[in-house]
Amino acid sequence: MKIVKVEALPVSTPLKRPFLMPGTRITHIHSVLLKLTTDDGLVGFGDGGDTSTWYRGETQDSIIAMICDHIAPRFLLGADPRDIERIVGRLDTFVRDNNQAKALVDFALHDLKGKALGVPVYQLLGGKCAEASEQGWVASAGPVDQVVREAVIAHEQGYSLIKLKSDGNADHDVDNVREVRAALGDSARIVVDANGFWNYEQALRTMRRLDRYDMYCIEQPVPYWDIEGMARLRARIDTPVFADESAQELHDLKEIIDRRAADGLFIKMQKAGGLLKAQRWLTLARLADLAVMSGCMIGSGLEASPSAHLMIANQWASQFTHENLGPLIIHGQWENDKEPIEHDIARNVPVFRDGKLYPNEGPGFGIELNEEFIAAHGTPGKPARTVR
Ligand SMILES: [Mg+2]
Repeated sequence: MKIVKVEALPVSTPLKRPFLMPGTRITHIHSVLLKLTTDDGLVGFGDGGDTSTWYRGETQDSIIAMICDHIAPRFLLGADPRDIERIVGRLDTFVRDNNQAKALVDFALHDLKGKALGVPVYQLLGGKCAEASEQGWVASAGPVDQVVREAVIAHEQGYSLIKLKSDGNADHDVDNVREVRAALGDSARIVVDANGFWNYEQALRTMRRLDRYDMYCIEQPVPYWDIEGMARLRARIDTPVFADESAQELHDLKEIIDRRAADGLFIKMQKAGGLLKAQRWLTLARLADLAVMSGCMIGSGLEASPSAHLMIANQWASQFTHENLGPLIIHGQWENDKEPIEHDIARNVPVFRDGKLYPNEGPGFGIELNEEFIAAHGTPGKPARTVR
Protein backbone atom coordinates (compact mmCIF):
# COMPACT_ATOMS: atom_id res chain seq x y z
CA MET A 1 0.00 0.00 0.00
CA LYS A 2 1.41 3.36 -1.08
CA ILE A 3 0.30 6.98 -0.86
CA VAL A 4 -0.20 8.29 -4.40
CA LYS A 5 -2.01 11.61 -3.87
CA VAL A 6 -1.97 14.36 -1.24
CA GLU A 7 -4.68 17.05 -1.29
CA ALA A 8 -4.88 20.12 0.96
CA LEU A 9 -8.15 22.06 0.90
CA PRO A 10 -8.46 25.42 2.71
CA VAL A 11 -11.89 25.64 4.36
CA SER A 12 -13.41 28.58 6.27
CA THR A 13 -16.22 27.68 8.67
CA PRO A 14 -18.20 30.60 10.15
CA LEU A 15 -18.92 30.69 13.90
CA LYS A 16 -22.49 31.27 14.96
CA ARG A 17 -21.20 33.81 17.53
CA PRO A 18 -17.70 35.36 17.72
CA PHE A 19 -15.40 33.77 20.32
CA LEU A 20 -13.13 36.13 22.30
CA MET A 21 -9.66 35.39 23.68
CA PRO A 22 -6.83 37.80 24.62
CA GLY A 23 -6.47 40.24 21.72
CA THR A 24 -8.34 37.85 19.47
CA ARG A 25 -11.89 37.84 18.10
CA ILE A 26 -12.65 34.68 16.14
CA THR A 27 -15.44 34.78 13.55
CA HIS A 28 -14.29 31.96 11.22
CA ILE A 29 -12.20 28.83 11.59
CA HIS A 30 -9.72 28.80 8.70
CA SER A 31 -8.61 25.18 8.59
CA VAL A 32 -6.94 22.73 6.24
CA LEU A 33 -8.67 19.52 5.20
CA LEU A 34 -5.95 17.02 4.29
CA LYS A 35 -6.73 13.96 2.18
CA LEU A 36 -4.25 11.15 1.57
CA THR A 37 -5.15 8.65 -1.19
CA THR A 38 -3.50 5.25 -1.60
CA ASP A 39 -2.86 3.16 -4.70
CA ASP A 40 -5.73 0.85 -3.71
CA GLY A 41 -8.18 3.72 -3.49
CA LEU A 42 -8.41 4.27 0.29
CA VAL A 43 -8.67 7.89 1.45
CA GLY A 44 -7.65 9.04 4.92
CA PHE A 45 -8.30 12.54 6.15
CA GLY A 46 -7.72 15.04 8.90
CA ASP A 47 -8.72 18.63 9.62
CA GLY A 48 -6.88 21.28 11.58
CA GLY A 49 -6.11 24.96 11.64
CA ASP A 50 -5.38 27.73 14.06
CA THR A 51 -7.40 30.55 15.54
CA SER A 52 -4.55 32.72 16.74
CA THR A 53 -1.04 33.37 15.41
CA TRP A 54 0.24 33.69 18.98
CA TYR A 55 -0.52 30.08 19.92
CA ARG A 56 2.01 28.25 17.75
CA GLY A 57 2.65 30.71 14.92
CA GLU A 58 1.28 28.39 12.24
CA THR A 59 -1.48 29.44 9.85
CA GLN A 60 -3.67 27.89 7.17
CA ASP A 61 -1.13 29.13 4.57
CA SER A 62 1.94 27.86 6.39
CA ILE A 63 0.36 24.45 7.04
CA ILE A 64 -0.56 24.01 3.36
CA ALA A 65 2.87 25.17 2.16
CA MET A 66 4.76 22.94 4.60
CA ILE A 67 2.73 19.87 3.65
CA CYS A 68 2.50 20.41 -0.11
CA ASP A 69 5.99 21.84 -0.77
CA HIS A 70 8.04 19.75 1.64
CA ILE A 71 6.32 16.94 3.53
CA ALA A 72 4.28 15.40 0.69
CA PRO A 73 7.03 15.07 -1.94
CA ARG A 74 9.77 14.01 0.49
CA PHE A 75 7.99 11.87 3.07
CA LEU A 76 4.49 10.86 1.94
CA LEU A 77 4.29 10.04 -1.77
CA GLY A 78 5.31 6.41 -2.24
CA ALA A 79 5.31 5.70 1.51
CA ASP A 80 3.25 2.97 3.18
CA PRO A 81 0.76 4.94 5.35
CA ARG A 82 0.67 2.14 7.93
CA ASP A 83 4.30 2.89 8.88
CA ILE A 84 3.29 5.82 11.07
CA GLU A 85 6.23 5.66 13.49
CA ARG A 86 8.67 5.71 10.59
CA ILE A 87 7.00 8.66 8.84
CA VAL A 88 6.56 10.71 12.03
CA GLY A 89 10.17 9.98 13.00
CA ARG A 90 11.43 11.20 9.62
CA LEU A 91 9.28 14.34 9.88
CA ASP A 92 10.76 15.17 13.29
CA THR A 93 14.28 14.60 12.00
CA PHE A 94 13.99 16.70 8.88
CA VAL A 95 11.30 19.33 9.68
CA ARG A 96 11.75 21.51 12.74
CA ASP A 97 8.66 22.65 14.72
CA ASN A 98 5.52 22.96 12.51
CA ASN A 99 3.69 20.52 14.78
CA GLN A 100 0.27 21.49 13.46
CA ALA A 101 1.26 20.53 9.92
CA LYS A 102 2.81 17.32 11.24
CA ALA A 103 -0.29 16.58 13.32
CA LEU A 104 -2.54 16.88 10.28
CA VAL A 105 -0.41 14.31 8.47
CA ASP A 106 -0.44 12.02 11.53
CA PHE A 107 -4.26 12.29 11.76
CA ALA A 108 -4.75 11.32 8.10
CA LEU A 109 -2.30 8.41 8.50
CA HIS A 110 -4.23 7.08 11.51
CA ASP A 111 -7.53 7.45 9.64
CA LEU A 112 -6.03 5.54 6.68
CA LYS A 113 -4.58 2.81 8.87
CA GLY A 114 -7.88 2.35 10.69
CA LYS A 115 -9.66 2.08 7.34
CA ALA A 116 -7.04 -0.34 5.98
CA LEU A 117 -7.48 -2.60 9.03
CA GLY A 118 -11.24 -2.03 9.32
CA VAL A 119 -11.09 -0.73 12.91
CA PRO A 120 -11.78 2.59 14.67
CA VAL A 121 -8.69 4.66 15.49
CA TYR A 122 -9.20 4.09 19.23
CA GLN A 123 -8.43 0.41 18.58
CA LEU A 124 -5.02 1.46 17.18
CA LEU A 125 -4.38 3.44 20.38
CA GLY A 126 -5.14 0.78 22.98
CA GLY A 127 -8.87 0.08 22.75
CA LYS A 128 -11.50 1.48 25.08
CA CYS A 129 -10.89 2.52 28.69
CA ALA A 130 -14.22 4.39 28.63
CA GLU A 131 -17.14 4.87 26.27
CA ALA A 132 -16.78 8.66 26.28
CA SER A 133 -14.54 11.42 27.60
CA GLU A 134 -15.83 13.87 30.19
CA GLN A 135 -15.88 17.42 28.90
CA GLY A 136 -15.64 20.84 30.52
CA TRP A 137 -17.20 23.94 28.99
CA VAL A 138 -15.14 26.85 27.67
CA ALA A 139 -16.76 30.28 27.90
CA SER A 140 -15.78 33.11 25.60
CA ALA A 141 -14.40 36.21 27.33
CA GLY A 142 -17.06 38.91 27.73
CA PRO A 143 -19.06 40.98 30.24
CA VAL A 144 -19.46 39.31 33.62
CA ASP A 145 -23.24 38.82 33.34
CA GLN A 146 -22.79 37.07 29.98
CA VAL A 147 -20.00 34.85 31.33
CA VAL A 148 -22.07 33.88 34.41
CA ARG A 149 -25.15 33.13 32.29
CA GLU A 150 -23.11 30.88 30.00
CA ALA A 151 -21.47 29.11 32.97
CA VAL A 152 -24.83 28.44 34.65
CA ILE A 153 -26.38 26.95 31.52
CA ALA A 154 -23.27 24.87 30.82
CA HIS A 155 -23.36 23.52 34.37
CA GLU A 156 -27.04 22.59 33.96
CA GLN A 157 -26.17 20.88 30.67
CA GLY A 158 -23.81 18.49 32.48
CA TYR A 159 -20.45 20.25 32.21
CA SER A 160 -18.88 19.92 35.66
CA LEU A 161 -15.87 22.05 34.80
CA ILE A 162 -16.07 25.61 33.46
CA LYS A 163 -13.10 27.26 31.80
CA LEU A 164 -13.06 31.04 31.57
CA LYS A 165 -10.95 32.81 28.99
CA SER A 166 -9.09 35.84 30.31
CA ASP A 167 -9.53 39.04 28.31
CA GLY A 168 -6.25 40.36 29.71
CA ASN A 169 -7.89 42.55 32.40
CA ALA A 170 -7.24 41.17 35.91
CA ASP A 171 -10.24 42.97 37.44
CA HIS A 172 -12.51 41.27 34.90
CA ASP A 173 -10.96 37.88 35.67
CA VAL A 174 -11.51 38.29 39.41
CA ASP A 175 -15.10 39.50 38.88
CA ASN A 176 -15.82 36.55 36.57
CA VAL A 177 -14.44 33.92 38.95
CA ARG A 178 -16.14 35.42 42.03
CA GLU A 179 -19.54 35.58 40.31
CA VAL A 180 -19.30 32.17 38.63
CA ARG A 181 -18.32 30.59 41.97
CA ALA A 182 -21.27 32.33 43.67
CA ALA A 183 -23.66 31.16 40.93
CA LEU A 184 -22.47 27.53 40.70
CA GLY A 185 -21.61 26.76 44.32
CA ASP A 186 -18.67 24.92 45.83
CA SER A 187 -18.71 21.77 43.73
CA ALA A 188 -18.08 23.31 40.31
CA ARG A 189 -14.54 23.21 39.01
CA ILE A 190 -13.42 26.58 37.64
CA VAL A 191 -10.42 27.16 35.39
CA VAL A 192 -9.01 30.45 34.11
CA ASP A 193 -6.86 30.33 30.98
CA ALA A 194 -4.54 33.35 30.78
CA ASN A 195 -2.95 32.07 27.54
CA GLY A 196 0.43 33.41 28.71
CA PHE A 197 -0.66 37.04 28.49
CA TRP A 198 0.25 37.99 32.08
CA ASN A 199 3.81 38.76 33.12
CA TYR A 200 5.09 37.29 36.38
CA GLU A 201 4.17 40.31 38.48
CA GLN A 202 0.60 40.45 37.07
CA ALA A 203 0.24 36.70 37.51
CA LEU A 204 1.35 36.79 41.16
CA ARG A 205 -0.94 39.70 42.06
CA THR A 206 -3.94 38.31 40.17
CA MET A 207 -3.53 34.82 41.57
CA ARG A 208 -3.29 36.14 45.14
CA ARG A 209 -6.75 37.63 44.53
CA LEU A 210 -8.04 34.44 42.89
CA ASP A 211 -6.62 31.89 45.36
CA ARG A 212 -9.61 32.26 47.70
CA TYR A 213 -12.04 30.86 45.08
CA ASP A 214 -10.64 27.31 45.14
CA MET A 215 -10.13 27.04 41.38
CA TYR A 216 -9.35 23.71 39.67
CA CYS A 217 -6.34 25.39 38.04
CA ILE A 218 -4.85 28.47 36.45
CA GLU A 219 -3.77 27.66 32.90
CA GLN A 220 -0.59 29.20 31.46
CA PRO A 221 -0.37 32.22 33.80
CA VAL A 222 3.02 33.45 32.46
CA PRO A 223 4.54 33.64 28.94
CA TYR A 224 5.33 30.32 27.28
CA TRP A 225 9.10 30.77 27.55
CA ASP A 226 9.10 31.50 31.30
CA ILE A 227 9.08 27.99 32.78
CA GLU A 228 11.34 29.14 35.63
CA GLY A 229 8.86 31.95 36.42
CA MET A 230 5.99 29.45 36.38
CA ALA A 231 7.87 27.35 38.96
CA ARG A 232 8.42 30.40 41.20
CA LEU A 233 4.76 31.38 40.87
CA ARG A 234 3.56 27.87 41.63
CA ALA A 235 5.57 27.88 44.87
CA ARG A 236 3.87 31.10 46.01
CA ILE A 237 0.18 30.44 45.24
CA ASP A 238 -2.40 27.86 46.31
CA THR A 239 -4.15 27.33 42.95
CA PRO A 240 -2.77 24.45 40.88
CA VAL A 241 -0.87 25.59 37.77
CA PHE A 242 -1.33 23.91 34.37
CA ALA A 243 1.09 24.50 31.48
CA ASP A 244 -0.29 24.85 27.95
CA GLU A 245 1.75 27.07 25.64
CA SER A 246 4.93 26.16 27.61
CA ALA A 247 4.38 22.44 27.04
CA GLN A 248 4.85 21.39 23.43
CA GLU A 249 7.77 19.04 22.84
CA LEU A 250 8.99 16.31 25.17
CA HIS A 251 11.99 18.44 26.16
CA ASP A 252 9.57 21.18 27.27
CA LEU A 253 7.77 18.63 29.43
CA LYS A 254 11.07 17.44 30.87
CA GLU A 255 12.00 21.00 31.85
CA ILE A 256 8.57 21.60 33.42
CA ILE A 257 8.87 18.34 35.37
CA ASP A 258 12.49 18.95 36.40
CA ARG A 259 11.72 22.48 37.62
CA ARG A 260 8.46 21.39 39.30
CA ALA A 261 6.78 24.18 37.36
CA ALA A 262 3.27 22.72 37.00
CA ASP A 263 0.61 20.56 38.64
CA GLY A 264 -0.87 19.55 35.33
CA LEU A 265 -0.33 19.66 31.57
CA PHE A 266 -2.68 20.86 28.90
CA ILE A 267 -2.39 18.91 25.65
CA LYS A 268 -3.75 19.52 22.17
CA MET A 269 -3.17 16.91 19.52
CA GLN A 270 -1.99 19.65 17.14
CA LYS A 271 0.44 21.14 19.65
CA ALA A 272 1.89 17.72 20.42
CA GLY A 273 2.29 16.99 16.69
CA GLY A 274 -0.32 14.25 16.25
CA LEU A 275 -1.61 11.10 17.92
CA LEU A 276 1.66 9.20 17.92
CA LYS A 277 3.59 12.01 19.59
CA ALA A 278 0.66 12.71 21.92
CA GLN A 279 0.98 9.16 23.28
CA ARG A 280 4.66 9.77 24.13
CA TRP A 281 3.61 13.06 25.72
CA LEU A 282 0.99 11.36 27.89
CA THR A 283 3.58 8.80 29.02
CA LEU A 284 5.74 11.61 30.41
CA ALA A 285 2.70 13.11 32.16
CA ARG A 286 1.96 9.69 33.68
CA LEU A 287 5.58 9.25 34.73
CA ALA A 288 5.52 12.60 36.55
CA ASP A 289 2.03 11.96 38.00
CA LEU A 290 0.73 15.13 36.34
CA ALA A 291 -2.94 15.60 35.51
CA VAL A 292 -3.73 16.28 31.87
CA MET A 293 -6.48 18.12 30.07
CA SER A 294 -6.97 17.86 26.31
CA GLY A 295 -8.29 20.76 24.27
CA CYS A 296 -8.82 21.62 20.64
CA MET A 297 -8.07 24.31 18.08
CA ILE A 298 -11.85 24.98 17.84
CA GLY A 299 -12.67 22.89 14.80
CA SER A 300 -15.05 20.58 13.00
CA GLY A 301 -16.32 17.16 13.94
CA LEU A 302 -13.31 15.80 12.05
CA GLU A 303 -10.92 18.08 13.96
CA ALA A 304 -12.39 16.90 17.29
CA SER A 305 -12.02 13.22 16.38
CA PRO A 306 -8.33 12.45 17.07
CA SER A 307 -8.58 13.68 20.66
CA ALA A 308 -12.00 12.03 21.07
CA HIS A 309 -10.45 8.66 20.16
CA LEU A 310 -7.25 9.07 22.20
CA MET A 311 -8.98 10.34 25.34
CA ILE A 312 -10.99 7.13 25.69
CA ALA A 313 -8.10 4.86 24.66
CA ASN A 314 -5.32 6.21 26.89
CA GLN A 315 -5.79 5.05 30.47
CA TRP A 316 -3.94 8.01 31.99
CA ALA A 317 -5.86 10.60 30.01
CA SER A 318 -9.22 8.85 30.34
CA GLN A 319 -9.53 9.67 34.06
CA PHE A 320 -9.44 13.47 33.59
CA THR A 321 -11.85 16.09 32.27
CA HIS A 322 -11.07 17.65 28.88
CA GLU A 323 -12.41 20.41 26.68
CA ASN A 324 -12.67 19.34 23.07
CA LEU A 325 -15.79 21.26 22.11
CA GLY A 326 -14.92 22.75 18.72
CA PRO A 327 -18.13 21.78 16.89
CA LEU A 328 -20.34 23.04 19.73
CA ILE A 329 -18.49 26.37 19.95
CA ILE A 330 -18.65 26.83 16.18
CA HIS A 331 -22.31 25.99 15.88
CA GLY A 332 -23.48 27.60 19.15
CA GLN A 333 -24.92 24.41 20.69
CA TRP A 334 -24.69 22.72 24.09
CA GLU A 335 -25.02 19.21 22.64
CA ASN A 336 -25.66 17.57 19.26
CA ASP A 337 -27.51 14.41 20.24
CA LYS A 338 -31.03 15.87 20.18
CA GLU A 339 -30.06 18.65 17.76
CA PRO A 340 -27.65 17.26 15.11
CA ILE A 341 -25.09 19.59 13.53
CA GLU A 342 -25.55 19.87 9.77
CA HIS A 343 -23.24 22.62 8.54
CA ASP A 344 -19.87 21.11 9.28
CA ILE A 345 -16.91 19.53 7.46
CA ALA A 346 -18.09 16.25 9.02
CA ARG A 347 -21.47 14.92 8.00
CA ASN A 348 -21.61 12.85 11.20
CA VAL A 349 -20.11 15.02 13.97
CA PRO A 350 -19.18 12.86 17.00
CA VAL A 351 -21.88 13.01 19.65
CA PHE A 352 -21.69 15.37 22.64
CA ARG A 353 -24.26 14.31 25.24
CA ASP A 354 -24.61 15.18 28.95
CA GLY A 355 -21.16 16.76 29.05
CA LYS A 356 -19.45 13.78 27.42
CA LEU A 357 -17.91 13.25 23.97
CA TYR A 358 -18.35 9.89 22.18
CA PRO A 359 -15.95 9.10 19.29
CA ASN A 360 -17.57 7.71 16.16
CA GLU A 361 -17.52 3.99 15.52
CA GLY A 362 -16.58 2.74 12.05
CA PRO A 363 -13.16 2.40 10.41
CA GLY A 364 -10.63 5.17 11.03
CA PHE A 365 -12.21 8.18 12.69
CA GLY A 366 -15.59 6.99 11.44
CA ILE A 367 -16.19 10.37 9.80
CA GLU A 368 -18.02 10.97 6.52
CA LEU A 369 -17.11 14.21 4.78
CA ASN A 370 -19.83 16.74 4.02
CA GLU A 371 -18.63 17.42 0.48
CA GLU A 372 -21.36 20.00 -0.26
CA PHE A 373 -20.39 22.03 2.80
CA ILE A 374 -16.69 21.77 1.93
CA ALA A 375 -17.29 22.87 -1.68
CA ALA A 376 -19.36 25.84 -0.53
CA HIS A 377 -16.89 26.99 2.16
CA GLY A 378 -13.52 27.00 0.41
CA THR A 379 -11.46 29.88 1.80
CA PRO A 380 -11.91 32.80 -0.63
CA GLY A 381 -8.88 33.41 -2.84
CA LYS A 382 -7.07 30.27 -1.73
CA PRO A 383 -7.08 27.32 -4.12
CA ALA A 384 -6.93 23.71 -3.03
CA ARG A 385 -3.59 22.06 -3.79
CA THR A 386 -2.89 18.52 -5.02
CA VAL A 387 0.50 16.80 -5.02
CA ARG A 388 1.04 13.51 -6.89
MG1 LIG B 1 -4.85 27.12 26.89
